[in-house]
Amino acid sequence: MKSCLFFLLAGSLAGQASYDLLLRGGHVIDAKNRLSAVRDVAIQDGRIAEVAEHIDPAKALKVVNVSGLYVTPGLVDIHVHVYAGTGMRGAYSGDNSVYPDGFTFRAGVTTVVDAGSSGWRNFPDFKDRVIDRSKTRVLALLNIVGKGMGGEEKIEQDTRDMDAKATAGRAAEYRGTVVGVKSAHFSGPEWTSVERAVEAGTIANIPVMVDFGKFRPERPFQDLVLKKLRPGDIYTHTYLDAVPMIDDAGKVLPYLFEARKRGVIFDVGHGGGSFLFRQAVPAVRQGFVPDSISTDLHIGSMNAGMKSILNVMSKFLNIGLELDDVVARSTWNPAREIRREEFGNLSVGAPADVAVLRLERGEFGFVDVNGARMRGAQRLACELTVRDGKVVYDLNGITRQEWDQLDSRYKAQGDPRWDATIGHAVRARK
Ligand SMILES: [Zn+2]
Repeated sequence: MKSCLFFLLAGSLAGQASYDLLLRGGHVIDAKNRLSAVRDVAIQDGRIAEVAEHIDPAKALKVVNVSGLYVTPGLVDIHVHVYAGTGMRGAYSGDNSVYPDGFTFRAGVTTVVDAGSSGWRNFPDFKDRVIDRSKTRVLALLNIVGKGMGGEEKIEQDTRDMDAKATAGRAAEYRGTVVGVKSAHFSGPEWTSVERAVEAGTIANIPVMVDFGKFRPERPFQDLVLKKLRPGDIYTHTYLDAVPMIDDAGKVLPYLFEARKRGVIFDVGHGGGSFLFRQAVPAVRQGFVPDSISTDLHIGSMNAGMKSILNVMSKFLNIGLELDDVVARSTWNPAREIRREEFGNLSVGAPADVAVLRLERGEFGFVDVNGARMRGAQRLACELTVRDGKVVYDLNGITRQEWDQLDSRYKAQGDPRWDATIGHAVRARK
């Protein structure tokens, strides 16, 4: 151990180290590159620099042993509510939102998409208040309602504030951050909310995500996914109780497979009211598997059955999906759905967003939105999260030096050995 450390420091001081951080010996799961095998992963200047069976540890400033753990792209959660701090009572843009950094990195998440908490009118405030101040990569779907989720009963029902052109205009103005349009919580009998969202998405050439609000016979769910949504549009809340899913004989209804064949995407959007084992278990076991696994993170869901994306992923593991599959649906699939293919993979040159996960075995329990319990023997936990090459979460200090070996004087002297020891592997390379 000591000689290894000496070698490492000697190497870096002599200017031989070319990589900032080397994650050694973990099982890499990277769906984009069809990789599921033990590999070393090297990071340099915030990007993935090399993925190989063996990378010489002398080439890295910092070497971390992650054998026995899974190394995946940083998780991409495409349904969260993070427009916090508005002070608006009872609104998702306010009381129900959380600040992203407090909930993302500890669960391996490096990219989130706020699902319509703001609309075209208040998106600039959301950007200034949260997006630009977060270490988490925060992208957004604009609510088709100009004022966003400012109150379900009145503001979100106001069809006069559903302006497709203004929404598309704002999306074009913030093309790097706005990745789609959201229709949500609509309770009227008309299709207005969905139609205006699709119109905005068509003008701006971005996908639409739909929370179907109150299900009504005047606008059947089957028509939403078979007629109204375009290929590439996303239905979130797939395993909600109101979605017609299982027939009297216990079989998945065929229209769902037809909708998928049309190119409509089915996302989990677990939330506080939208995931039932009675829907998900039979559907998944008959092959109606979600395209992407998202949380619908907000204060209500995180303290109830949803908890975190790792908990939701663990539910699907225990229902019977393979780990590789669950990881693909939480990384590469959602990145493609929002058309941001630079994320959710570990290709050389990609931003170094990485999660290191532990698959725990034991006796666990999982709860759905009806309060029903499912037992399980596997659970995912996050050991380490790296965003843009920087260690942003480290549960057991695996990137850190032992306390009796760390000389804190390095910090005062601005010595690069301090950077290396605290795990912020990217340092100035001028
Ligand atoms: Zn939501």
